[in-house]
Amino acid sequence: MSIYFDNAATTRIDSEVFDHITPYLIDNFGNPSSAHQHGRAAKQAIEQSRETIAGLTNANPSEIIFTSGGTEADNTALLSGIRLQNIKHVITTPYEHHAVLNTLKALQAAGEIELSYINIDKAGNIDHDHLEHLLQSKGRALVSVMHANNEIGNINNIELISEQCCRHNAIFHTDTVQTMGHYKHDLKKLGAHFIAASAHKFHGPKGIGFLYCRDGIGLEKLIHGGSQERRLRAGTENIPGIVGLAKALEIAYSHIDEHAAYIQSIKNTMIHKLTDLIPDVQFNGNSANADKSLYTVLSVAFPLNFANGNLIGYLDDNNISVSGGSACSAGSASHVLQAIGVDPSKQTIRFSFSKFNTVAEVEHTVSLLAALRNTQAA
Ligand code: PLP
Repeated sequence: MSIYFDNAATTRIDSEVFDHITPYLIDNFGNPSSAHQHGRAAKQAIEQSRETIAGLTNANPSEIIFTSGGTEADNTALLSGIRLQNIKHVITTPYEHHAVLNTLKALQAAGEIELSYINIDKAGNIDHDHLEHLLQSKGRALVSVMHANNEIGNINNIELISEQCCRHNAIFHTDTVQTMGHYKHDLKKLGAHFIAASAHKFHGPKGIGFLYCRDGIGLEKLIHGGSQERRLRAGTENIPGIVGLAKALEIAYSHIDEHAAYIQSIKNTMIHKLTDLIPDVQFNGNSANADKSLYTVLSVAFPLNFANGNLIGYLDDNNISVSGGSACSAGSASHVLQAIGVDPSKQTIRFSFSKFNTVAEVEHTVSLLAALRNTQAA
């Protein structure tokens, strides 16, 4: 049995998405900038995809810009918000994805911005009073807070943050890479200025994502060249990726409640079985709280002596793929776990689930871990 419990790193492409993409590699391969019929067909596919995404997320098509993924969308949003709105103070959390944190740290190092971190508690909950204080402290700010954390699964109250930003005339960016396709987004209602999303987190292709930029805000170009994407993002468009992204989001939205309930039940089974069979496990952040965490992510702290401190390797040897913190930070201490002060004498495993997982896979994994614990205890 080969088990994949690393869906927060990336997901398997949906076969329906794959089938939908194939004609755009073989028959409809035109360059959308070409004036002939092949080009026009490709251009139409892009605009139809943009309309589909805008329709599903309650945005205007003009507010959706295709990017190479979440990282580029985050970078573009932050640079645009800061430079075009003349922002000098940025407020964020210590557990943002590196696509946000490292961009902000680079701008701070270059002297472009002053960076403040919102206080969080031991479970990773944001202190909204502290955010309020920061918003009042240094003039007009840009706030970047992720919707949900990719390592511990915590979901932040972005509706409340958006309201706080609105009251203080601040620019609000939120990284929705882990929630897009898993939760319904109503972008007009949310009122954020920017959001970032990535197709490979919801059974779409890799290397494609989108940036939502509220009409009237404006974008700073990261890539200079041709006039693609209304002169906002140069380079020949990734048509198979774009149509695959729209299809994956359409499929996700059409089954969203059903898949959420199914995946949550898988996660619940894992929580219950782990707690029953391995009493010394702990759950990081709000990971075990169904109301405050992603149904796709469970972050578990195991005793350090488990598998001689190399539980990921042990599971891998047994054909089970999991992550420690996140795939991107493999090999280095997780800044997210450090930010919430996770006991360094524990080893963390992130199990992350998708609609393709089964309860049988959870049972197999937990019995393997229980057997390991018994040998360690003996
Ligand atoms: N933001 C979050 C929260 C993520 O989990 C990831 C990917 O792991 C990214 C951004 C980066 O997205 P991409 O891989 O599409 O560049």
